[in-house]
Amino acid sequence: MGIARGRFVIDTHVHAQRHAAKFKARGIKPDYSRLGEEMMRSKDIVVYDNSPRLLYDMDRYGVDMCVLVSAFAMTDEINLEIVRNNPDRFIAQVGATEYMLQARRGEIEWTIEGHCAELDRLLATGMFPGGIGEGFPLNPDPKRPYVWEERFQEICQVMEVAKKHGVPATYHTGMPTGYAGSKRVMGVLGRAVTDWGNPLLCHDVAAAYPEVPIIMQHGGMQGWWSEMYMEPTFEIAAAHRNVYLECGMYWAELYEKPLTDPNIGAEKLIWGTDWGASIPVQYRPGLYPQTYFDQNRKQGLPIHQVDYFGWSLRQLDKLDIPQDDLNLILGGNAVRIFKLEDRMPHSRMFKEYAE
Ligand SMILES: [Zn+2]
Repeated sequence: MGIARGRFVIDTHVHAQRHAAKFKARGIKPDYSRLGEEMMRSKDIVVYDNSPRLLYDMDRYGVDMCVLVSAFAMTDEINLEIVRNNPDRFIAQVGATEYMLQARRGEIEWTIEGHCAELDRLLATGMFPGGIGEGFPLNPDPKRPYVWEERFQEICQVMEVAKKHGVPATYHTGMPTGYAGSKRVMGVLGRAVTDWGNPLLCHDVAAAYPEVPIIMQHGGMQGWWSEMYMEPTFEIAAAHRNVYLECGMYWAELYEKPLTDPNIGAEKLIWGTDWGASIPVQYRPGLYPQTYFDQNRKQGLPIHQVDYFGWSLRQLDKLDIPQDDLNLILGGNAVRIFKLEDRMPHSRMFKEYAE
């Protein structure tokens, strides 16, 4: 068992399922421009439970719990099965993945009302304390244009469901640059100017639902060396009490601004890495940042399990901050946001002062 960096360590953003594309067996070359789309629609790509590797990594690096997130063709059903097999180690976030899959395959017509009804039904089971994600559901038709006024109305319907069930909602920020399914899908028909492409639009959402915790997934950094999404994301976190930043893909220096901003601080950072998303770390000796997550088209798809915990924890090791602050980032804030107090062996383990 590895030595834990904090008292109770929770990774709030983990993908415990993996896609087997079997390109070789199918005799085809991977086409990066269509990869994301193929992963979501194709019946030839198999999704499987990858939790044995995740549990191995959790034990090596001292990670107590993970929040299981779906994406692409990963399913709520497999996530629930993983939770059932290890109820002390995992909680699940809900995506209404079966509804989304049917819509992607053209079996039903996607509507925000239909998606929200399914989220409502699944959250009523009490099996998804991880809230709604990854990000706000979006019409799977890539040719569907959006304007913010309309998109905001869709998001409000999702926020109503989160409010009703007392769970957090997630707002996705930042994108890697390599394969399609990443930044390149943002460049069509106004999607780049909706929530998935612009963190600042979260002002409208956070202000309209101050009682719903909003987690800005990746906290502005899911990949690439550019910090273009960081300050807009920090502005949202500083301006709204109910907004938190996931920070697991930050290199060490990126922690400085949010940690020293009096309206952000360690209380609003939560550790979430994207473990299982298979985005490798790029290496540029001597440059800043020297290492960062991003997809790499020249390299091709990683077959190995990219080590997220190891890199991310080494970045945190560089911070000279009080351990009580680090404990909030690594688990204390997540315990409160996801209401996991009963999972803790003791109370009063996280920073708290008499009024
Ligand atoms: Zn993710």
